[in-house]
Amino acid sequence: MAEATATQAPPDQQASVRIVFYCKDCEKLVDGVKIGRKYVYKCPICHTKSVAFGTEKSIKSFYHMGE
Ligand SMILES: [Zn+2]
Repeated sequence: MAEATATQAPPDQQASVRIVFYCKDCEKLVDGVKIGRKYVYKCPICHTKSVAFGTEKSIKSFYHMGE
């Protein structure tokens, strides 16, 4: 069982680097749909390209979420 614990990353570290997508039109987190090979993402709900992405921490901080 020792090798199982050795390969696990700390929960805090995993959460801080999680990438999320935020639609500025829907004003909520969405599943970003990648367009082509560029770093452009489309919202699956309203189909606009008003989607910002970043780490969960930075997005929530920037858009004042989770307070
Ligand atoms: Zn949207």
